[in-house]
Amino acid sequence: MTIITKASILCLLAATVVSPSIGGDTLTPGRPLADGGGTLISAGGRFELGFFSPGASNNRYIGIWYHDIAQTVVWVANRKRPVTGRPGTLFIATNGTLIITDDNSTAIWSSSSPPLANPVAQLLDDGNFVVREAGSDSEDPNSFAWQSFDFPTDTHLPGMKLGWNLTSHLNRNLTSWTSASDPAPGNYTAAIDLHGYPQLFIFSGTRKYWRGGSWNGIVFSSVPEAIYASDRFNIVFIIDSQEVMYTNYLRNASMISRLVMNQSGKLQRFVWIEERSSWNLFWFRPKDQCDSMSPCGPNGVCYPSDWPMCHCLKGFRPKDPSNWDLRDGSDGCVRKTALDCRNGTDGFVTLNGAMIPDTSSSVVDWSLSLEQCRARCLRNCSCTAYASANISGSESGCIMWTTDLTDLGVVSSGSGQDLYVRLAAADLGSESGDSRRSRVVVISVVIAMTILVLGCAACCVWKRKKRRKNCLAEGHNEGTGQDLDLPLFDLAAIIDATDDFSIHNKLGEGGYGPVFKGKLGGEQDIAVKRLSKTSMQGLEEFKNEVMLTAKLQHRNLVRLLGCCIQAGERMLIYEYMPNRSLDAFLFDKSEDISLDWQTRRNIIVGIARGLLYLHQDSRFRIIHRDLKASNILLDKDMNPKISDFGMARVFGGDETEANTRRVVGTYGYMSPEYAMDGIFSVKSDVFSFGVLLLEIVSGKKNRGVIYHSASHLNLLGYIWSLWKEGKGSELVDGSIGHSCSLAEVLRCITVGLLCVQERPEDRPTMSSVVIMLNSDGELPQPQQPGFVVARAPPETGSSTTNHDSSSTRNSLSVTLLEGR
Ligand code: AMP
Repeated sequence: MTIITKASILCLLAATVVSPSIGGDTLTPGRPLADGGGTLISAGGRFELGFFSPGASNNRYIGIWYHDIAQTVVWVANRKRPVTGRPGTLFIATNGTLIITDDNSTAIWSSSSPPLANPVAQLLDDGNFVVREAGSDSEDPNSFAWQSFDFPTDTHLPGMKLGWNLTSHLNRNLTSWTSASDPAPGNYTAAIDLHGYPQLFIFSGTRKYWRGGSWNGIVFSSVPEAIYASDRFNIVFIIDSQEVMYTNYLRNASMISRLVMNQSGKLQRFVWIEERSSWNLFWFRPKDQCDSMSPCGPNGVCYPSDWPMCHCLKGFRPKDPSNWDLRDGSDGCVRKTALDCRNGTDGFVTLNGAMIPDTSSSVVDWSLSLEQCRARCLRNCSCTAYASANISGSESGCIMWTTDLTDLGVVSSGSGQDLYVRLAAADLGSESGDSRRSRVVVISVVIAMTILVLGCAACCVWKRKKRRKNCLAEGHNEGTGQDLDLPLFDLAAIIDATDDFSIHNKLGEGGYGPVFKGKLGGEQDIAVKRLSKTSMQGLEEFKNEVMLTAKLQHRNLVRLLGCCIQAGERMLIYEYMPNRSLDAFLFDKSEDISLDWQTRRNIIVGIARGLLYLHQDSRFRIIHRDLKASNILLDKDMNPKISDFGMARVFGGDETEANTRRVVGTYGYMSPEYAMDGIFSVKSDVFSFGVLLLEIVSGKKNRGVIYHSASHLNLLGYIWSLWKEGKGSELVDGSIGHSCSLAEVLRCITVGLLCVQERPEDRPTMSSVVIMLNSDGELPQPQQPGFVVARAPPETGSSTTNHDSSSTRNSLSVTLLEGR
């Protein structure tokens, strides 16, 4: 914005003010546009420009919207600074500067352009608001001194450029609104990144959030479905010394379409359906499990419709097989056989249908054919892969990668392209007819076997040594009797790390005892759980937690780093979770941080994946038995980690349910069959997960609150009654605001209701839950939840009920009252 003083505005106004009202499509220095004094309408009647207030806001903005389509604003001038008092005015000064003033005549926004002698501002029929010399050609972009198309907000219209003018360094990108009532720049930006071979990205703040990929002559490589738009749009992507930019034009001028960067991080193309008078979602991204940044790590390939989704490229194997087996692909894959550039025996394997890897460090040579590209790659010992840069028509140009291949995917629709990955001869398999191959294979196998045998031997020696000083050894002394291989920390080191358990380092307190933050060796942040001598959860829970957490590894489970058993102290040392536990975000209204929908959804999906791992994918079948908001910890990126395994139980191979006399867990999260009959199974965890999901969506507690005083409904009962009446949207936590897609939220609520159904056999397994959360398929109709009537339980944390004791009967009858 050009800086303009109040005095100069008054001068400009004095020189220009004449008629109060407006019409047509043009502003001139003598014709300002006052708020309430009309609007500009483009000559063909498609777009309108004027003052408006978005959503429930009273703030006033100058915007452009479709003249005949309600509530679709495509551009906002003063998005960062609204007019708060009426009336504002938009006028064009005699030098061609556009200025918005408030009722005080203070400039709150202005355009910046070279001075003109006889300026006009005109709203064109493509939605572009331009400033030019009167009498110049309104069809010729070269005559525009300023244009709104150079400063997009969240919407790309046909004809608008997205990307860089390399001469003026103008970067045109799309930035989401903050909320439906506030067009100020939000968290997500779709932009062209110039590193390596330019690519489209969505950034969340400054972090890369989704990679749309590089232009392959038809579409951006990671948006293959946009190929189906190419018969409707004439798409142009230019990379030259002047600019790197994308634009499109409609093949049929009567079609209406827009591309929007929305508030929850989705890039959406809409088309207008005239007969139904509604916008239809044509495609959107990110949309599937492969759409996070490089989910399968270097040299891993993500298959969106597969489970597990990650595979290694041919000739590669998982770098960390144990994490890979646990569905954590982030470490990616490494070569089975090193490349052999010097002897010239390397070759290529073709990956068909690829969404090609990240090109941030790739080079492109447009002069090369595909054959020349192959030869160039073979000559360059650092070259790891190549592909055609342009797959429209006959393939041309050459992209070469000289690093690991990251964020690589494969599309099933056949709209991807071929990627040629360099492999050592030994890994080429039937693709190479070279007789040396078998020799290399044999030698490689012998070497691999030798390394394996030596590795195993070294591992055994190392384990034997290490076992002398770990939680196992101490555990034996203390009577755990379990074969655990978990580091034992020295008490002095923990005292040092926590500043002698300083109250300033206390993070919180659970049933087990206080938890302290510490800095190990002045570097690594840790959380130390110190078993309190008065804790109800004693040695048994300690042993259980050590035994289970030490053996489990998953990105959605908190990691136990070790323990400390010394001088009568028992402590567990965990990785530190900077955002602590989920309950504070959901229920503590004094916490001034609300979670947007995307974060809530990620948390729900992460918990579901962690629980699926416990139930199905880990070495044992584990029932957590105390899943609740305070047992979900959040890392620095708000990824959820399930914690507190003190009450978890391991099931043997065929065991599917068990009965306990000692019911442990937390009111509000316990399933009916568990609370009343002590029967627990994976389905009792599914019930707790359902309650947790509904709490995350609603921001309301299930436990101890009555939501409908007449019928005494708890949260489950309340949601059930809303859902039956088709009013599920009323449940959504107000603080989510407009950051959510209603369809996604309603889908989540339905999944939550399926999980809390009264009969365990009606509830889905966690693998079905994960699939339901990540797909668009039709969902079954939920039956009534168990426990729909509220009772205020004791405000303690986890509770234990012994079915044998006399108090048991009391507890049971109380529990029964709590049921329907
Ligand atoms: P708990 O005993 O697991 O219920 O933990 C009590 C409280 O300590 C939690 O609600 C958290 O606020 C905090 N806490 C526990 N573990 C960690 C951790 N690994 N990192 C950060 N905070 C933690």
